[in-house]
Amino acid sequence: MAEIRIAFRQGGNSGQFTREGWADPEGHGSWTEGPNSHLRFSGLFAGVPYAVAIDLGPYLAPPMLAAQALTVSVNGHLCFEDRLNGPCQIRFTIPAGAIPPGGQAEMVLTCSDAVAPMTLGTGADMRRLGFSVWQVTLEDQPAVAAAPLAVRPAEPVFAPVPLGIVPQALPAVAPPPPAAPAPGPIEFRAAGTCPLCGQATEFIARRATPLPEQWYPNWFRDGLRCAKCDSLPRERALFTVVERLYPNWRDLAIHESSPGDRGASLRFRQECRGYVETQYDPELGFGKTDAAGRYRSENLEAQTFPGQSFDLVITQDVFEHLFEPDKAIREIARTLRPGGAYIMTVPIANEARPSSRRAARTSQGVKMLAEAQYHGNPVSAQGSLVTIDWGFDIVDYLAAHSGLSVSMFYFDDISRGMRAICMEVIVCRKLGMPPSL
Ligand SMILES: [Zn+2]
Repeated sequence: MAEIRIAFRQGGNSGQFTREGWADPEGHGSWTEGPNSHLRFSGLFAGVPYAVAIDLGPYLAPPMLAAQALTVSVNGHLCFEDRLNGPCQIRFTIPAGAIPPGGQAEMVLTCSDAVAPMTLGTGADMRRLGFSVWQVTLEDQPAVAAAPLAVRPAEPVFAPVPLGIVPQALPAVAPPPPAAPAPGPIEFRAAGTCPLCGQATEFIARRATPLPEQWYPNWFRDGLRCAKCDSLPRERALFTVVERLYPNWRDLAIHESSPGDRGASLRFRQECRGYVETQYDPELGFGKTDAAGRYRSENLEAQTFPGQSFDLVITQDVFEHLFEPDKAIREIARTLRPGGAYIMTVPIANEARPSSRRAARTSQGVKMLAEAQYHGNPVSAQGSLVTIDWGFDIVDYLAAHSGLSVSMFYFDDISRGMRAICMEVIVCRKLGMPPSL
């Protein structure tokens, strides 16, 4: 009798078995990523049944996602099928006939409910998470009685780890998730002054289930709202930078690409006479204004504006959706006046890792280089495809392709509602006269 034991934590041996569909090992194990996650075995005994146990737990975001479906097949034989609503050990048997004479086996975990926390609005993690797996064992013994569902509580599963954050701290400090739905909504409140609406206010975040405190910045990215104006941390951060660097913004010519009906965009629209709003609307025709006179259709990568048209160009979480960001930043630089600046937010999902491309435009159409991810889009129900996971090297990228002087601002000030991951503000300045001393 021989046992194969796979540990999915950092430092474990899962790399010998995992193929496509797995995130990098973390402190708690490895997330299945996307709809299908593959494990490959060789040297098994042909014609022998194997007892399998998998310790795992689903990514959950109740009430939107209270359970996840899982099926496991081995060499095409369906071995397990259920919906799981918490961490557990599943057990099943690989039938004797499933292992061919070569002893090869392909195990596929199919997670049809896998979803990115970003898509659900519960965090900035853009990976499509199914289950956190920490151990798989195979034992070549006579078939054990199949126990298709959870039979004992296993180790806890934690909130998804965003890219780039050191996960080792997780197991020691995070409590296990509640077995049943939390008794009531979890609420975080902090009193302060909102940089966006200027009012004394409370910054409030609510969620259904408890969360270890070190994950609050993830929660806050789309969760910490001003009680007075509903703004989010990254909107307050962007507006803070505009006010500090260009306190006369009301008198300037501002171009904002793809604004929504909220946050800083509302203030620009209401208070700046020279505010021009553009949306990517090829059907309307680039350079044309929509019938309501609300926005002008523009392709950020090939704009119809004359050179030096604007003092400020603004985008908020747009740059991760561009196919040719080099063209976009060159166009933005062209349309800026000397002394002006391009001020933007973009999720730096890769943090210290290099920027990586998720989708590319080819002559045959859009080519996916990684799992497709979408963010909300104010003018499209289907959302916007994420094309690039940016790292901090975006600063060099923008400077190299535009000649602009690029810097990055980051705030951590809960009294002004500015605490969250992925709320960096990037400023690309078109230098005018050098400062005189
Ligand atoms: Zn406010």
